[in-house]
Amino acid sequence: MAEEKKHSDYLIEHEDYANWQINLGDKTVHARRAPGRFRNIKWIINSIFLLPFFLLPYFTWDERQAIFFDIPERKFYLFNIVVWPQDFIILALLMLFAFILLFAMTAIAGRIFCGFVCPQTLWTDLLTLVEGWTEGKAKQRIKLDAAPWNFEKIRKKGLKHLMWIVICGATSITFLGYFSGIYDAWTGFFTFNYNVYEWASFIFVFALFYVNTGFLREQVCQWMCPYSRIQAVMTDKDTITTTYDYHRGENRGRLVKGQIAEGNGDCIDCNMCVTVCPTGVDIREGNQIGCINCGLCADACDDIMERVNRPKGLVRFMSYNEVENNTTTHNRFMRPRPLFYMAVTTITFISIAYLLLFISPIEMNVNHERSPTFTLMSDRSIQNVYHMIVLNKTESAADFMLTTKGLDGAMTNFDDKPIHLLSGEAKKVDLRIKVPRKNLKSASQDVTITLTSTENPEITTKYKSAFFGPGN
Ligand code: SF4
Ligand code: SF4
Repeated sequence: MAEEKKHSDYLIEHEDYANWQINLGDKTVHARRAPGRFRNIKWIINSIFLLPFFLLPYFTWDERQAIFFDIPERKFYLFNIVVWPQDFIILALLMLFAFILLFAMTAIAGRIFCGFVCPQTLWTDLLTLVEGWTEGKAKQRIKLDAAPWNFEKIRKKGLKHLMWIVICGATSITFLGYFSGIYDAWTGFFTFNYNVYEWASFIFVFALFYVNTGFLREQVCQWMCPYSRIQAVMTDKDTITTTYDYHRGENRGRLVKGQIAEGNGDCIDCNMCVTVCPTGVDIREGNQIGCINCGLCADACDDIMERVNRPKGLVRFMSYNEVENNTTTHNRFMRPRPLFYMAVTTITFISIAYLLLFISPIEMNVNHERSPTFTLMSDRSIQNVYHMIVLNKTESAADFMLTTKGLDGAMTNFDDKPIHLLSGEAKKVDLRIKVPRKNLKSASQDVTITLTSTENPEITTKYKSAFFGPGN
């Protein structure tokens, strides 16, 4: 009776993946799409990032676009928050937060950002999905690339590029929509009504996505991305990366009559892990610079292990120490490097949240006149001068009152005289405070200067300064 073939035998013989080429940088990698845990995580993360990117510009808040970067007016709108150039510290902190978070992620789990979150990966996933719809599975695409040009090849490639152009065009217009207004970005494009900067931005972003994620894709991750070069300084021997468990896998060898040959390890040399790799890496050769830690090879290998009745996890996320010491004990977080990065990330995050929540819609900078610090007036009062810049960061023009607290009998040149400020206007004013000499208790007394909107007393800001006199 003929020996029953296992599905794994059929798979390997029929598909002939054994000769699959690893990435040498000379050809486009056509990776197989295989289902699995990490593939599902990638779908979820793709949705979490791509859907908001395309949809958020259509949300409105207070009759304006909810997220809008108004470059000419130098204002950033984030729902109810308006970030002015004077709040640059928030943007600086946001950038710091993003970088340190990236460092923390890398210290804990290597290039996991590249594998799951990087726009290059997200859009490459999207464009190769379209490639699969139009040109077929990975092997069919490789054959199509090698085939001479004919009607069928032109039809398939033409349809793919048309869909890529639509996706990259929509990406570029949406990106522009965050700066020009989303409806203006669409109508401006279709009516050829962009200004030179808008056309330049559109072409740049379109080309960036079309070329990088459509044509270059894994070459960007492997050869061009500077982050791949510097990641080594952020990782250590406890960083988890997708790793081949060579203790279990070697000696690798093909199935013999549907079984793992006597003396062989669990790796049946099927090359499935290589065929699914978007950067064309053979993970069994050890950790490599091209590996973006996406876990897709682990999915593929788990599937094979299930078919040959071996435990899953021959390729899995583990650290150098785990694989070298052949152990499952690990230290994911309690290490100086991740702890340091996480501490900085947390502090930065709290600072940003505080600044965003308590961002003041008005600002006041105060500089006490130093030369002279005080003047003895003819009416025997003491005068101090404060050079001030007051700024209205609300969305409308308003009147503001300057008041003082802490000095007996103090009078100012702004008593009953509000300062009118347009929206976004910054004005230089000199505040003169006069105090009867007899009321001064010492050579220096605290004074609190307050700027308050006449229409909305909740819009207010304070500054503590000193009032100087001759002393007793
Ligand atoms: S590691 Fe797994 S998927 Fe890769 S060749 Fe070996 S058995 Fe096949
Ligand atoms: S080797 Fe595995 S984890 Fe690394 S990029 Fe390829 S499929 Fe992803």
